[in-house]
Amino acid sequence: HSTQDWQGMDAAHNIHAFVDQKKLNAAGPRVMNRAKGLYVWDNDDRQYLDGMSGLWCTALGYGRHDLIDAATRQMEQLSYYNMFFHTTHPSVIELSELLFSLLPDRYSHVIYTNSGSESNEVLIRTARRYWQVVGKPQKRVMIGRWNGYHGSTLASTAMGGMKFMHEMGGMLPDIAHIDEPYWFAHGGNLTPEEFGLKCARQLEEKILELGSENVAGFIAEPFQGAGGMIFPPESYWPEIQRICRQYDVLLCADEVIGGFGRTGEWFAHQHFGFEPDTITIAKGLTSGYIPMGGLILSRRMAEALVEHGGVFAHGLTYAGHPVAAAVAIANIKALRDEKIVERVKNDTGPYLQRKLREVFGEHPMIGEIQGAGLVAALQFTADKATRKRFANEDEISWRCRSYGFEEGVIIRSTLGRMIMAPALVATHAELDELVEKTRRAVERTAQEYKI
Ligand code: PLP
Repeated sequence: HSTQDWQGMDAAHNIHAFVDQKKLNAAGPRVMNRAKGLYVWDNDDRQYLDGMSGLWCTALGYGRHDLIDAATRQMEQLSYYNMFFHTTHPSVIELSELLFSLLPDRYSHVIYTNSGSESNEVLIRTARRYWQVVGKPQKRVMIGRWNGYHGSTLASTAMGGMKFMHEMGGMLPDIAHIDEPYWFAHGGNLTPEEFGLKCARQLEEKILELGSENVAGFIAEPFQGAGGMIFPPESYWPEIQRICRQYDVLLCADEVIGGFGRTGEWFAHQHFGFEPDTITIAKGLTSGYIPMGGLILSRRMAEALVEHGGVFAHGLTYAGHPVAAAVAIANIKALRDEKIVERVKNDTGPYLQRKLREVFGEHPMIGEIQGAGLVAALQFTADKATRKRFANEDEISWRCRSYGFEEGVIIRSTLGRMIMAPALVATHAELDELVEKTRRAVERTAQEYKI
């Protein structure tokens, strides 16, 4: 089919994510057709360097035959089975063995799902169940952060803090929010460290306001992804951890983006130096070859639930799906055995971070560069000295993303920030190309807006 044919058929039936469907139908989406390594080709054979790993997920890049073969072999051997009828299967057992070999002894169990959103739904039920089992059934409230993102199902949307997604006000009871630790935008005259402490102490205030006897957990992304790739100041996470411990509140890390090597550590909480009680995973778990997610539990929680919990009335048909598990095994083995996570930490990560600072550090329009490993954000600013943001920053970053497409690179725009998170297998040459094409997109944006 021609691209126009595909677009016409797409417009006839498909509702896309986070767009004005009518405008999209008029403009016509890019029809992506094939991919290999870090590159994606559209239906007209235009090549793009994928600077976003799909949607932060294709850690190993596209077209890996070890993952494809693992899926095929598993489909032939046992294409489906479940964990409902007092049954299990080798694929899911082996995956868990591998998963916990990556983590310290303080974590012991996992509940598998098919996505990040589902995993966070499961988190709410599991956290409440845990407190019930240990004799504190009143602890039900989950605290999230404004501009946090935890998925698009009802409760994950409610725990998230994307206000434009909260069509009906607060959406659900027993959910509260505190502010995001976004120093560039909201830090005022405070140093980043002072601001980090101030934001963390909002959690303490919120817990005291709600009554710690009512609070089940605090959920946050170690670094905020969809809300603009925001790294909190260094003072933030240690203080959050202190507060959660002091008030007996579960510390729940949403590692859907941060997990599986993105920052150069296996999990982003390790980069920031804190120890969550639960870890939400998805995306990089299977490099996006097949849907799979999960909720990892601390040994303390799991022991309470297993020893004293009785029946946990929860289950998903496809949880621990043998084919997804087989892909996850192949994916984790590749990340481990090819030393990809180590390379992100010691080589490609520092290389990208250094390059971005060389190229954009003095740029008058880029007020902040944040990142670690192979994730980074460039903050547009109208005035570097005062950290002034553009009134139309959303439009500006959106234009920059479009110029990126024209230059042959896929980067993401969120509210005045340009985000990149290429596959973890990226080479120096591919990172050079990513930075150079991003530079051209930023220059064209700067020219258009006469900055
Ligand atoms: N949590 C975080 C931090 C995410 O970034 C996302 C998706 O982008 C989700 C949860 C939701 O995951 P999914 O889209 O697989 O439901």
